[in-house]
Amino acid sequence: MLQYMIIVLDDTSTSFCHYDVPRCERRLIALDDLRRAIRVAMIENLTVQVVYPYYDLPQEYKDVIETIDHSDIMPVSTATPGAQVVTVDGWQWKAVLWKGRVAVLRAPLEELLGHAQQVSDLLANVQRLNVVITDVERFTDADQERYSIWLAQLGEELERLYVNGKSPQLNLLTDRMMLTAMNNCGAGDTCITVAPNGRFYICPAFYYDDPDDCVGDLDHGIAVANKQLYRLDHAPICRRCDAWHCRRCVWLNRRMTLEVNTPSHEQCVMAHLERNAARNLLASIRSKGTFLPDKPEIKEIDYLDPFEKLQEK
Ligand code: SF4
Repeated sequence: MLQYMIIVLDDTSTSFCHYDVPRCERRLIALDDLRRAIRVAMIENLTVQVVYPYYDLPQEYKDVIETIDHSDIMPVSTATPGAQVVTVDGWQWKAVLWKGRVAVLRAPLEELLGHAQQVSDLLANVQRLNVVITDVERFTDADQERYSIWLAQLGEELERLYVNGKSPQLNLLTDRMMLTAMNNCGAGDTCITVAPNGRFYICPAFYYDDPDDCVGDLDHGIAVANKQLYRLDHAPICRRCDAWHCRRCVWLNRRMTLEVNTPSHEQCVMAHLERNAARNLLASIRSKGTFLPDKPEIKEIDYLDPFEKLQEK
């Protein structure tokens, strides 16, 4: 059942997830389409997230957006003080811009590994940090050890912060400690996107890949073909997995395996390295005192890709 609507205001709106924004020419959603999208969200009782470009919107757009409860996803360089989520590309940070916010940091793996200290500094300032690795498809078995070491370094920083009474969240590590069941991106299932052309998409990535790959429009409504394929209960590998924090990105799935409900080896291995690092972090914090007493221990496992485990059976 749908619960969320993402409104991408402009072709140049910031990315908050795996996809890149390939367009540099502005194309702002028509004001009437924005009004109609909000009307759909009101009728369907959807929670709205608005994704902003790097320029200031005309006042009439701001006025229309204010007609509905929503959260703002904005580039940090132009974010208003009230923006709930801020995104940044690059490494030129002013800590004050992040204070107490939810921040999205998107970068290729190699850059992240080379900036462990900056990521730790960021963690100390934000309420929550979502790290999005933008080149999952290039992850190889040779990267596993370096990724694990980087995660362990961030785990040490998180442990230091937690022991000192702070509790920032990091999607790659703390989500798995807190969860008791799968909690993934609901694109195509619980979440739908409205693009600047007034059409509906599974998520913004599907729009940027191919504007004709829509699932309806504001004139005719939402029409997701084979919508069961976007649900966890129709994802035969994921529904048995316990990397509960995994983003389970259906766009990456389709890009890498040609099936929206079949994950790639790379996505699974990375998620399991994070799961295992979360296991170590949880045990380490607990060795210092009571921590999340109602959450079960994360079990030790002997695989990194659930698909291989299934094949063994
Ligand atoms: S790790 Fe793989 S199997 Fe597990 S939820 Fe993520 S994509 Fe699905």
